[in-house]
This record gives sequence, structure tokens and C-alpha cells, in this order.
Amino acid sequence: MNHKNCISYHLSLILLLGALILPSTPVYAGGIQEIKGGAPPPVKKIVALTFDDGPSTQYTPQILDILKEENVKATFFVIGENVDRHPEIVAREHAEGHAIGNHTWSHPFLSLVESRKQLTLEIARTDSAIYRAAGVHVSLFRPPHGWCPPWMVETVEDLGFDIINWTEDPNDWKHPAANIIVKRVESCLGLSAIVLLHDGLELKKDPKQENTVQALRGIIRDFRKDGYEFVTVTQLVHAPEFAEECPALYKVIKNPRVIHH
Ligand SMILES: [Zn+2]
Repeated sequence: MNHKNCISYHLSLILLLGALILPSTPVYAGGIQEIKGGAPPPVKKIVALTFDDGPSTQYTPQILDILKEENVKATFFVIGENVDRHPEIVAREHAEGHAIGNHTWSHPFLSLVESRKQLTLEIARTDSAIYRAAGVHVSLFRPPHGWCPPWMVETVEDLGFDIINWTEDPNDWKHPAANIIVKRVESCLGLSAIVLLHDGLELKKDPKQENTVQALRGIIRDFRKDGYEFVTVTQLVHAPEFAEECPALYKVIKNPRVIHH
């Protein structure tokens, strides 16, 4: 997405989400032009930090420590096989108030997954692993590589999941320096966002995501400085009339695209 599109895209997202998610936010009954006298009320800025491909023993606990210190709730899209390796970390994610999402069992290139049965198995095995680890069934799904053609959307929705992609991708899985990750995430500051980060990398036992850990405080600091409120993806999705009345974010969630890996 280019910067210009990004701005208009997110501006509508901010206005709509501000009204939908946060009841205390003043609602523009007839649009901004109808407000008379004084400055218009401030618009809430909202950001959801998301971490994919974990959990990993090296990085996820460090990320959780930082989130705890900063009092930020995030969303973790976990891989089932990694959940079974480190269930205690997923239990901690849940216990500390973060949202958890299903990111398949083995992180396959879904373009190679040819049947509904195979996809359903990937999702169901992960659901069981999350339940064993944290005692909850989750309803968020992020397809590996963001790739989700219509038949997959239908299958995943039939299973009761919301499909979540992202608005900002700093490509942290390519291991750029921490300051580069921070700068890339900032590229759309002034807007609202779902940010894609990684605490793991597919099924790798050492995903080498230390730069993401190092970047996290800077990302949080800059969003805070710019007046953002941190929310989980669950908070976004469960806003009333979300799907019908928030087309921008709905599009983010439904939009099938291939971006990373
Ligand atoms: Zn992934």
C-alpha cells in the first residue's frame, strides 16, 4: 500500500473505530462539518501489535516482559507445533491478558494446501494445542503469508474464525536492524494500525528475532508519543456492528494478499 492510500485508508478506520469501539469517544452524528464552535473533539488513535509464528523460548518471554512493563496488551498468532513445544509460554500469554490467534499447525504455504480437509486439520490441531496450553478456544485466524483465497475464507469462516491480516509490515522476519524496524512501523504514524511482528519464524528452533525484541520499546514509545491506545485484535473484532460499519478494517481482515515470507 502506498503512503497516500495508507493515509486515507487509516483515516476512515480511525473515525469509524473511534465511534464503534470506544463508547466514551464523541460520535460525529452527521460528520465533522456539522460540529459548530470550538475545536472538534480528539479522535482516538488505535493500534494492535501482533506477533506471529511463536511461541519461541528465546524471544517470546522477553517480549512478554516488555509488554508487561509497558502495560500493553498484544495479540499472538501462534503455530500449533510451536505451542506443543512450549505450552507454558502460551499459558503465560493468556494469563497476562493478551489475545491468542490460530496460525495453523505447521505454517504451510497454503497455496499447496489443496483440500478443505487438510486446512481444517491444520486449524483443528492448533486449536487443541492452544486449549491444552491455555484452556481456551480462540476465534482469530491469520493465514501463513497472509494468503487466503475465497475457498479458504469460506472454510475458515465456516469453522467460526475471523481472518486477520495487517496494515503495517516492517518485514522484521528478514532481521533488519532494530532502528529500521521502528522506522518502518512509524511510516504510517498519525493513523491507526494492525502491526505485523514476529516472535518466531515458522518452525525454526532459533528464529533469531532479537532485533524485534530490541525494536519493541521504541515502537511502543513512538505510538504512545503520538497518542495511540493499544488494543488487542479481539477488542477490534468484537466491536458492535464491526463488519458492516467498519469497512476499512473489515477489508484489512478479509483482504487476501501475499506479503511476507
Ligand atoms: Zn507466519
